[in-house]
Amino acid sequence: MKSTEPVRVAVNIRPLLTSEGCTDCITVTPDEPQVHIGSHTFTYDLVFGNGGLPFSQIYHRCVAPLVEDLFRGYNATILAYGQTASGKSYTMGTNCGADGGGIIPTVMEDVFTRVEAVKSQIRISFLEIYNEEIYDLLAASKPSRAPIRIRETNSGEITLQGVTEVQVKTKEEMSSYLARGSSTRATGITNMNIQSSRSHAIFTISVKITTAEETLCAKLRLVDLAGSERANRTGADGIRLKEGRHINSSLLALGNVIKILGGNERKKKKGVCHIPYRVSKLTRLLQDSLGGNSKTVMIACVSPAITDVEETLSTLRYANYARNIKNKAVVQKQKPSTPCFDAMVKELTPSNSDAKNKTVVQKHTPSSDYYAMVKELTP
Ligand code: ADP
Ligand code: MG
Repeated sequence: MKSTEPVRVAVNIRPLLTSEGCTDCITVTPDEPQVHIGSHTFTYDLVFGNGGLPFSQIYHRCVAPLVEDLFRGYNATILAYGQTASGKSYTMGTNCGADGGGIIPTVMEDVFTRVEAVKSQIRISFLEIYNEEIYDLLAASKPSRAPIRIRETNSGEITLQGVTEVQVKTKEEMSSYLARGSSTRATGITNMNIQSSRSHAIFTISVKITTAEETLCAKLRLVDLAGSERANRTGADGIRLKEGRHINSSLLALGNVIKILGGNERKKKKGVCHIPYRVSKLTRLLQDSLGGNSKTVMIACVSPAITDVEETLSTLRYANYARNIKNKAVVQKQKPSTPCFDAMVKELTPSNSDAKNKTVVQKHTPSSDYYAMVKELTP
């Protein structure tokens, strides 16, 4: 089953912090998902905070439907977007703060409540993109920190070579991996946030559900981006400045992808338009989440402080583009694996040793007959 639907966009306005000591520059139309900033007005799917919906409803309104979709076999993504110190990590729950709140811990509870009712297997992975390299936050050999390489399959699917995927059986076990990965994640102190995320983090929950009729394999990606920043405001120099440049350039690439996917240019060209996913690792990893095979909710986090008005306006603009992005989510059914089917495919597939010895043959075969037969054998 295929489902074409736009990326849903929620805006989350965090409270003014006592340290900010300034005035609010953003208002919300009562009972409407609409925000006003200066002379600009933007409408979204949902607005939380500052007179909009209470923050406590963010899970129920934005995330719970995606967890439900995950268990129906659809890939899903929650993406927290916004400037530094706008509340992304607080909202996602990747800071593992004292209150233990946020989206990811609640997802875990939800997932394990649902798991009780179906035959399923849960696996997780946790990555960060730091200085334009992908690192495995669950790797056993932490000191080596060897970057992970991206591979693309013939069908265009992005895979990550050697990434740790651990099977988890309880919420507590999953939680301990989140805490372990979060503590490994690169953070640093800047003038704008004492625990500023210096990397983009992607926590993925893969679910395999087996019923009498079929096996569904779907993934939920929970993305906590590092925030855009201006060096003169963060006071960054040395390592922090270099990190900031990488963060900004990957966010710029993400912004461009969002703008092209959601802008008018694409409509004018009837959808035929080059999308620059390859410009950064972040956009490559999010290729399916934006314009691809995923149900996606973007949570645009903003600060209400007048001192952040420029960044808030920029976030609201990109969030507005994102509402026009159309995704095509497809139920992720696992190909049947019966001993008979596997044996027949094996017989028809050139073996590894053949492939090693006859590199030319590997290039030109299998023949079209082979593909026709495999197709015929694939229900
Ligand atoms: P980001 O990840 O966007 O850089 P953080 O999540 O680290 O920002 O949040 C920055 C600060 O704002 C933190 O001190 C956090 O506790 C506070 N904060 C963010 N969102 C909220 C909220 N909804 N309610 C209360 N405090 C918040
Ligand atoms: Mg953060």
